[in-house]
Amino acid sequence: MADSKVINIKGTIRTIPNWPKPGIMFRDITTLLLNPAAFQEVIRQFRQHYQGKTITKIAGIESRGFIFGAALAYELKLPFVLLRKKGKLPAETEAQEYQLEYGTDKIEVHKDAIQKGDQVLIIDDLIATGGTAQAACQLVEKLGGTIAGIAFVISLSDLKGEEKLQQYAPFHLIEFEGE
Ligand code: AMP
Repeated sequence: MADSKVINIKGTIRTIPNWPKPGIMFRDITTLLLNPAAFQEVIRQFRQHYQGKTITKIAGIESRGFIFGAALAYELKLPFVLLRKKGKLPAETEAQEYQLEYGTDKIEVHKDAIQKGDQVLIIDDLIATGGTAQAACQLVEKLGGTIAGIAFVISLSDLKGEEKLQQYAPFHLIEFEGE
């Protein structure tokens, strides 16, 4: 390997205390994206994990899930599906309500983006309580898709989101615990 320098992905993530409200430690991946080597390493590790697995589509959760999901879909030459916040998609949609760590929301997908028999890998930047990822899985399932896995750059392991979603084969690259 020409470049043997080990990239510390975790070290490229910025933490903003008390944002967007008191008590939240916001894990900011914009600083990771400013580092091309770190971004490439994230996609390399995802590709290594998922290459050769039975996946027919990758679905990214708005908005940071789009960044990592689209890059991985491009690498794996798979279709990319957008799971968007309500009111953003122009064609006919299916919807699912969910709870955030800080509020409630709804996600939508175009009805024709997922077909029965699809094996869908869902991607987001971070899993906290798991509510968002769970809603994404339920949304895909409503359209007849099967969840091939759920992938995150970051897991906030204290909040046990992945534990609640074991049936969807969660995978993460780095975690923050009690930090
Ligand atoms: P949850 O539904 O609780 O698993 O929350 C996950 C979603 O909220 C993801 O889309 C994250 O981008 C965002 N999120 C929740 N908590 C944080 C946090 N502490 N830092 C950054 N993003 C967060």
